[in-house]
Amino acid sequence: MPPAHITPAPRIGFFGGTFDPPHLGHLAVARAAADRFSLDEVLLAPVAHQPLKTAASSASFADRLAMASLMAEADARFSVSDVDAEQQDGRPNYTVDTLARLRGRVTEQTRLFVIVGADSLRDLPRWHDPPRLLALAELIAVSRPGEDLSAALSKLRAAFGEELFAEMEPRIHCIEGVEQPVSATTLRHDLANNDAAASEWLLPGVLQYIQAHHLYGNEA
Ligand code: ATP
Repeated sequence: MPPAHITPAPRIGFFGGTFDPPHLGHLAVARAAADRFSLDEVLLAPVAHQPLKTAASSASFADRLAMASLMAEADARFSVSDVDAEQQDGRPNYTVDTLARLRGRVTEQTRLFVIVGADSLRDLPRWHDPPRLLALAELIAVSRPGEDLSAALSKLRAAFGEELFAEMEPRIHCIEGVEQPVSATTLRHDLANNDAAASEWLLPGVLQYIQAHHLYGNEA
């Protein structure tokens, strides 16, 4: 505990994703990061355009934002950020640009953390300007079934070289043991087939929203 006269620096997590739809895996990842790193706030930020995904999102940005808002209700630390909406002009939406905008809105002392799953950590070399991203924020990488966080780190070492990786590594924090065998791709498929298994991985409010708006070909 810091002495009473020192206010700890605020800690904000930025959790970007397609959230197409947001599922219980996302919720567990965000909660694990918030718990482990004592985050004051986690911003759930649906991306308007995901540069690394070839397939277009199935649900509109507005629907994904609405569903993320429903998920944010599950935890008092969560809120939804439409910081990505500011760049809906069809240009690729780079996390590093979004973070730079976010940096401009918080105090200098604020610690920013980008929360990602292990698959996204593995993909970091394909992100736009990773060194700048890690200068703007720290990274919290959370385990995911079928992904190996240590292997992802080795891949980063090989991709960035020893010197650069040595600068980046202290700002990359890993959380092991979060095992959520779910992906939005599988859920979209199950929802289109009216497979009840999908409901096990969705918050009731999100499932109701999907049904009310007939998203993902769901006919329930
Ligand atoms: P899709 O199947 O459409 O690719 P997804 O389930 O991976 O979607 P995204 O919205 O693309 O979900 O993911 C946002 C972030 O959440 C990414 O950093 C991703 O790695 C992470 N994530 C998603 N699902 C899990 C999970 N089950 N375990 C750990 N991390 C996850």
